[in-house]
Amino acid sequence: MSFNTLGLSEAILKAISKKGYNEPSPIQLKAIPPILHGKDVLASAQTGTGKTAGFTLPLLHILSESEQTKFRPIRALVLTPTRELAAQVYANVKEYSEFTNLRSAVIFGGVNQKPQVATLRQGIDVLVATPGRLIDLQNQGLLSLKNVEILVLDEADRMLDMGFLRDIERIMNMMPAKRQNLMFSATFSKDIRKLANGILHHPVQVEATPENTTVDAINQKVYRVASGKKTDLIIKLISDGNWKQVLVFTRTKHGANKLCKKMISAGISAAAIHGNKSQGARTKALAGFKNGSVRVLVATDIAARGLDIPLLPHVVNFELPNISEDYVHRIGRTGRAGASGQAISLVSADETTYLRDIEKLVGMKIPKDILEGFEPDPNASTEPKKQGRGRSSRSNSKSHSQSSKKSNSSNKSSSSRRPKRTNRR
Ligand code: AMP
Repeated sequence: MSFNTLGLSEAILKAISKKGYNEPSPIQLKAIPPILHGKDVLASAQTGTGKTAGFTLPLLHILSESEQTKFRPIRALVLTPTRELAAQVYANVKEYSEFTNLRSAVIFGGVNQKPQVATLRQGIDVLVATPGRLIDLQNQGLLSLKNVEILVLDEADRMLDMGFLRDIERIMNMMPAKRQNLMFSATFSKDIRKLANGILHHPVQVEATPENTTVDAINQKVYRVASGKKTDLIIKLISDGNWKQVLVFTRTKHGANKLCKKMISAGISAAAIHGNKSQGARTKALAGFKNGSVRVLVATDIAARGLDIPLLPHVVNFELPNISEDYVHRIGRTGRAGASGQAISLVSADETTYLRDIEKLVGMKIPKDILEGFEPDPNASTEPKKQGRGRSSRSNSKSHSQSSKKSNSSNKSSSSRRPKRTNRR
């Protein structure tokens, strides 16, 4: 099946061919036609499936087909949970709209608002934004959403996890009721369905490859190890295996910094990416990782969410996530674009419960191994370690200053199905 049959304009097909895509991915095949027909769409798709083009291509088509007024109001809004995802979606929007006369912009917190405001003043058709900065600028009267025709909620599940429910509701009230709504989410909890019911009208539901298929394609392995030996073990695995590009997940920001320092002391180039890092530091770390000057990127779940790093050969869970679904998201980063990958988890006794939950979710036993010299501690307790300070520290994290008031609401809304997040990211 080729892109030509989907009804997209010449200008957009030209951009697709410039990107070198030969055929639409399954989610694109399923989502593009109903979006072009003006339907609301509820899509289940993880990052790596081509979901961004799945909503961006038809959105650009619709906007470029309708007449433009001299005063250019924002006609499409893409909301994303993180700055990185916003920047990535924007980069995609720029590329795919290159041969149209549509203008776009991205706004997110953590950086000076002035250049963003200057771009908005020139008039833009497509705005990609994180909720906090969007609301800030709207409150200051610096942007209007009164002419939005198409709304995209990208990674809606993560938005709820991050406590953006109240913000989303506020943003909904800034837009006309009559508009096309597209919602993309990797997982479908009760809360996501509730949100979808409140926003979408008779949505067409589309689904990319089921998560388990992705998981099956990835070579997974667990090393049982004493928690105090994890750092030495990971350094050994990276050095002995001569791994060139490794994404390592830690549960906390502090843990990410600490591990990163140890890697650097061991002569392995590493950078950490998490919520307390400035936008500049995060962008630099990611760029270094992509161009090969940074061998190991140590990340927390939220920071890593949605990062577009194709063909990632190795993902290591330095600590298992306490939310099983995060495991699937983490390791899903290795099998992207059909490339095979290896996902290794270093598991200490106190993570036994997390491992059991993860195996239940992915529906398989993950092969386990013990390396000589890195044996687990037979006397260690299997009780999960108490983490965090009783409430999500995201609520006082600088990076999510937008979410300061919202963490509580999200915890409440998701507490019925999911364990409470106590991790400090
Ligand atoms: P996404 O799931 O939107 O993050 O996209 C994952 C990666 O797939 C990105 O690097 C895209 O550039 C790439 N991609 C998107 N659509 C296609 C396609 N039809 N063919 C090949 N690669 C694609």
